[in-house]
Amino acid sequence: MPDYSIGVDMGGTNLRIAAISTDGQLLEKITLGVKVAMGRDYVIGEMCDAIHRLTEQYRGTGRFVGAGIGVPGIIDMERGMMRKSANLPGWSDYPVRDEIERRLGAKVFLDNDANVAALGEKWLGAGRDADNMAMITLGTGIGGAIVLNGKVFYGMSGMAGEFGHVTVVPDGVPCGCGNRGCAERYASATAVVRMAREAIESGQAPELAKAASSDAEFSAKSIYNLALQGDAAAQRIFERFGEVLGILLADLVNILDLDMFVIGGGVVSAWDAFAPRMFSELRERSLVYAASAPDDAMIKKGASAQIANYTKKKTIITQALLGSDAGLYGAARIPASQ
Ligand SMILES: [Zn+2]
Repeated sequence: MPDYSIGVDMGGTNLRIAAISTDGQLLEKITLGVKVAMGRDYVIGEMCDAIHRLTEQYRGTGRFVGAGIGVPGIIDMERGMMRKSANLPGWSDYPVRDEIERRLGAKVFLDNDANVAALGEKWLGAGRDADNMAMITLGTGIGGAIVLNGKVFYGMSGMAGEFGHVTVVPDGVPCGCGNRGCAERYASATAVVRMAREAIESGQAPELAKAASSDAEFSAKSIYNLALQGDAAAQRIFERFGEVLGILLADLVNILDLDMFVIGGGVVSAWDAFAPRMFSELRERSLVYAASAPDDAMIKKGASAQIANYTKKKTIITQALLGSDAGLYGAARIPASQ
């Protein structure tokens, strides 16, 4: 039997833990109804108990090589600690990695949730055949990660790939990061709901208003369903979403010129509603994409009118394949690839 590692996804809604063999087979997956908000000591205790149960169970099958943990927030990689985070009070200035290592008696790696999702897609998902890729995760906000030759590119301070806070509208909507007009204020689940509420207030969106008053969980999904049914106001929201995502991608393609950009996260299921506009922005705004797009049947404006589509290798922009399991696979990959 092959060796195995443990991947942990410390999401906002629950704690998921998986035993995964070093050749990529999912042995077992556990979902605990434990939220990060339940506090540091409780979360760490439940996590370690569940990992112990798994390592006991698979003791005879192969060697346990360690655990990787995907965490929402910014990590001090060297010290294995969280930096100050509004969502994780009590976690900063606490030796998270060392404490879990001590309890498990095994090597433990902490990494940002966007980075582990990208590593998962690189290992077993959409990025399997790409040497260099970036991943954009569309969820409550926008997560980002850059993977070069199979390794996460961290930058100087471990913060590389903050795609969600790239400015796309100079005087745009204020963002929690202190800037205005960040990409995640226009292209995330939260942004879709905000834009819908603004459309309702303007009095130009009767169907959205009806949905908002009857649907207790008025969400990006309900707005997407209205767009699918042909509601013009809902469709305009996803047009704006696609426009902003296209602007962001055009910048990323121009700067990084990677083989592949993988788009994941819950809102990627609205692909049909936002992707056509995203691709047309991209062709118009990015010279590099215009030269390397998979086919040249679309627009002939902007950058696409300036340069022929001439490279042999193509820039692939595609949906993620592993869904919410990407982070589990990617987190398990870290100890397995050391
Ligand atoms: Zn921001």
